[in-house]
Amino acid sequence: MLNSKVEKAINDQIVAETYSAYLYLAMASYFESKGLKGMTSWMKCQAQEELSHAMKFFNYVGERGGRVLLGAIEAPPSEWESPLAAFENALAHEQKVTGLINSIMDVAIDEKDHASKSVLQWFIDEQVEEEATAGEIVDQLRLIGDNGQGLLMLDKELGARIFAYPPAALGGGE
Ligand code: MG
Repeated sequence: MLNSKVEKAINDQIVAETYSAYLYLAMASYFESKGLKGMTSWMKCQAQEELSHAMKFFNYVGERGGRVLLGAIEAPPSEWESPLAAFENALAHEQKVTGLINSIMDVAIDEKDHASKSVLQWFIDEQVEEEATAGEIVDQLRLIGDNGQGLLMLDKELGARIFAYPPAALGGGE
């Protein structure tokens, strides 16, 4: 049976992961409006990945006999000053999510919920990657500055990203 404090925290995190998907979809539309097809596609992949995170938590709660109670999802922003500002926002958002996951881990540790600790460790490792990826793109955009050709090259590079839905997010275990 899932510990009730951990269950509540994971329920909140399902909303937070779904908000992340919303935020990245809003960024996808922003990039599309700027004609940056690669960044549009990258953000769509990122949104799908966030939905898979929400589903991984959703499936875990069900597997442990818990109940998912879905809360309201806030509307994300729709405009950014520049591609750099959008990716800086993405990085800041991932740093915030890392803090949220760490807090849930603190609850799982306090409650001696070892199974949840294992699932949360996966998310902690995932956040290291998320922050590194967003951070690299921010660094590249800072180097590019006002260079339009550099921006188009990075856009092309980011357009190569594909997303495959992980089995754990589809349900039925790993
Ligand atoms: Mg996530």
